[in-house]
Amino acid sequence: MKARSILSFFLSLLLIFSLTGCNKQPASTANKGPQPPAKLTVYTSFYPMYDFTKKIGGDKVEVINIVPAGAQPHSFEPSTKLLAELTKAKLFIYNGAGMEHYIDKVKETLKGSPLILVETSSGLDLIKGEHEHGNDHEIEHADTGFDPHTWVSPNNAIKQGEKILEALVQVDEANKDYYEKNYQQFKDELLKLDREYKETLAKCKKKEIVVSHDSFAYLARDYGLKQIPVMGLNADAEPAPGKLKEIVNIVKKNKINYIFFETLVSPKISETIARETKTQTLVLNDVGGLTEKDLQHGKDYFSIMRENLESLKTALEYQP
Ligand SMILES: [Zn+2]
Repeated sequence: MKARSILSFFLSLLLIFSLTGCNKQPASTANKGPQPPAKLTVYTSFYPMYDFTKKIGGDKVEVINIVPAGAQPHSFEPSTKLLAELTKAKLFIYNGAGMEHYIDKVKETLKGSPLILVETSSGLDLIKGEHEHGNDHEIEHADTGFDPHTWVSPNNAIKQGEKILEALVQVDEANKDYYEKNYQQFKDELLKLDREYKETLAKCKKKEIVVSHDSFAYLARDYGLKQIPVMGLNADAEPAPGKLKEIVNIVKKNKINYIFFETLVSPKISETIARETKTQTLVLNDVGGLTEKDLQHGKDYFSIMRENLESLKTALEYQP
């Protein structure tokens, strides 16, 4: 009896070995030429962070933008599935200054995971946000007290890109030179854009821009414009009562001829003001998010900022 059970034990062992042996795929070890090194996966919180990271990371980095094309970044909520994905990632690049209202939730959920969170607006000279009284949503949103739309100014974008560069080098030291070279190109292009803005806007007769939501304060500060926002810092909020009448009066008093609207915000209110004041509308894009169509046409931060400058030239009466 004993001998038989030992025999059957060996027989079953033999069976297991032969089965696992058969399952081995010899092809997986053969045929292997030089493989490209795995790309570093980086998550970004919305379009400008995605675009900047792609430009600096180049083909060494796979960048995942968590906000879908055409969606308003202000109202974005990360799903449980996304949070689970993030626990496995190395880098999450975000704007900060109150732009990502869910960031504390992310920090809390990802405590103890190896994920590094990079707040690109840290160290910037932030502008205090204005609270829209009588609008609960707005107060809740702007609870950092600062205007989060930092990236709209090329000068800020240079510094935010530097934070991205530092983070990439921190997790992927081997490609330091490559990232630095890309960053230098990115910075040079931003310096060029800054010169174009300075030279063009200095030759404009008017300074007032009526915009749909309070997202151009940094641009206004850096180029001497006066921003008149219809809505507050959150693009999804409704204008406060009495606001429309106030804007209509400002437009008439300052002889403003164009009302700006954004691609991701309903143009309805801007159109109402334009009708009331017999003015025209034009697009001014805060680059907070691109539509699917924009992306298909290969648009990016730079091309949109140059389209904005053309709109500003028209509205502010450029005189060469
Ligand atoms: Zn906004």
